Amino acid sequence: TTRIERHHYDVVVIGAGGAGLRAAIEARLAGKRTAIISKSLFGKAHTVMAEGGAAAAMGNVNSRDNWQVHFRDTMRGGKFLNNFRMAELHAKESPQRIWELETYGALFDRTKDGKISQRNFGGHEYPRLAHVGDRTGLELIRTLQQKIVSLQQEDKKTHGDYEARIRVFAETTITELLLDGDKVAGAFGYYRESGEFVLFEAPAVVLATGGVGRSYKVTSNSWEYTGDGHALALRAGATLINMEFLQFHPTGMVWPPSVKGILVTESVRGDGGVLKNSEGKRFMFNYVPDVFRKQYAETEEEADRWYTDPDNNRRPPELLPRDEVARAINAEVKAGRGTPAGGVYLDIASRLPAEEVRRRLPSMYHQFKELADVDITAEPMEVGPTCHYVMGGVEVDPDSGAAHGHVQGLFAAGEVSGGMHGSNRLGGNSLSDLLVFGKRAGEHASAYAEGLTARPKVAAADVEAAVDRALAPLERDGGENPYTLQQDLQAVMGDLVGIIRRKGELEESLVKLADLRDRVTRVAAAGGRRYNPGWHLALDLRNMLVVSECTARAALEREESRGGHTREDFPTMAPQWRTVNLVCSLDGDKVRLEHKPLPKIRAELIQLFDRAELAKYLTDEELADFDALTG
Ligand code: FAD
Repeated sequence: TTRIERHHYDVVVIGAGGAGLRAAIEARLAGKRTAIISKSLFGKAHTVMAEGGAAAAMGNVNSRDNWQVHFRDTMRGGKFLNNFRMAELHAKESPQRIWELETYGALFDRTKDGKISQRNFGGHEYPRLAHVGDRTGLELIRTLQQKIVSLQQEDKKTHGDYEARIRVFAETTITELLLDGDKVAGAFGYYRESGEFVLFEAPAVVLATGGVGRSYKVTSNSWEYTGDGHALALRAGATLINMEFLQFHPTGMVWPPSVKGILVTESVRGDGGVLKNSEGKRFMFNYVPDVFRKQYAETEEEADRWYTDPDNNRRPPELLPRDEVARAINAEVKAGRGTPAGGVYLDIASRLPAEEVRRRLPSMYHQFKELADVDITAEPMEVGPTCHYVMGGVEVDPDSGAAHGHVQGLFAAGEVSGGMHGSNRLGGNSLSDLLVFGKRAGEHASAYAEGLTARPKVAAADVEAAVDRALAPLERDGGENPYTLQQDLQAVMGDLVGIIRRKGELEESLVKLADLRDRVTRVAAAGGRRYNPGWHLALDLRNMLVVSECTARAALEREESRGGHTREDFPTMAPQWRTVNLVCSLDGDKVRLEHKPLPKIRAELIQLFDRAELAKYLTDEELADFDALTG
């Protein structure tokens, strides 16, 4: 029989990025015995890579900023497909979450009068991103980890044991959630180093596993991001929404090939960098869509004045939401005006003194120097779109983070959850999202565990089945190679479900994904259980495939272009599609897709917008409702 280490907790948090750590802190503060599990090393999550900052309407740099303006920007950025209640909570609560981080010891960059400094970013009307140079995520993670250590020190004092109430299990991958009826009973996984199995019995699980980017070849995401949380949720009976919406960040490195996809922070543009094609033209002025025309400058002169006088000028079009900029770059390259490596130029060198570039963008300076031998204080960078973020995710109750569907005790926060960002996320809105909804998920998972009269039980047969599934790739001889399968998957997703989509190609992708799902049942990993990345990938593939199928199905179904979903055959936004969420669930092994109406935006929130703006998004019936409301 297989040896399995067993642990008992009240709340198990899967993921140690910002969302997971913030949720765990809250659960521990609620007195719950809490485990934090992370696939990678503790401290190495996407959150740590975040560069630009965390969006919060503190109004430190422009006092006109407030939660209503942030709410409006977020809804516009998401093309009104956002869950309005999440966007509302996020806009209202993010300043508190940032200030709270300071009480944990965070040190943000300062304004001259000593307040937290805020920088400009695409789609945000006022300077809004709290930041630490271009290393904001590092400070966020450092601070949350420090808070956890301080809680462990308290526990040492009162219980004689640092890990009495909060413990970190690093390099531990969860492969299954275990249920008792429709209630969460635990999570099963393995230690990456030893390959030994581990079972966490717990009545409440918070998914905070981040994104899905590794299903694409060109991506800013690192190896862990295989959509595990999305797939765990589906298999537990929860639902996913908005999976057709992926964010292709406009600026990833394109050269040299070995680093293709690595992110070039939007701060470069926020701080004055401009995009140029091979003819030296600032092409973004040609790509301002009608819905944004009023807010963006029409001439280079006006755009340049905006950096010093934002109240009397409109913003440069380089700071349009990411989906617009990514499509524009794509179009320039396609029209033959790209760089030799197939990108466009991003120029900060001619815009700021060298010293200032090194001060504001130290990581970018080093990244280009070391990886591409380019000095960004003297030469332009070459950049192009890269798969960066998934707007879609676990369908949750906006206030509590509880997963919808047929499962209780499952919560989700951060990138793995869906709804908050609608069809496109604004830069900086993720770090704030993690804090706001991480806290809420931790709080509600604790309350749920507290309210149970009996603890759900893990069934021995379910554990055995989980063991068998995990060991299967090791027990097959001469099956499919996991690395080949991943490459094939990346080719399908990149070529057929990428930044610009077409009906025929999406249909073809589904045929190919079905074939890959069949091949993955024969995936084999050579070697044993001790640190074996091929085995780990073999297990991840199951998740990547089911999540990719959700994306492809939803992308085929949604016959319009909106945010991170662009259909060449349906190039415009269609108001009747704004009212629809596409919901994915699993029926046995089969992915099911359903239409579900979006919740209606509350009266006082919809009234924050002008009728003229709403007319670009809403159906005639919705507009009639709005008119009735406003008299
Ligand atoms: P993550 O931080 O991604 O953490 C996920 C955790 O889950 C990890 O600990 C991982 O090991 C764990 N995990 C995953 N699967 C399993 C499993 N099966 N078992 C156990 N553990 C598992 N956003 C902004 O707002 N501002 C920015 O400036 C910004 N810059 C970015 C720069 C880069 C290069 C990237 C990649 C992203 C950036 N983003 C930014 C986006 C933002 O960083 C992420 O969306 C956010 O950090 C996600 O946080 P999270 O807590 O949801 O998950």
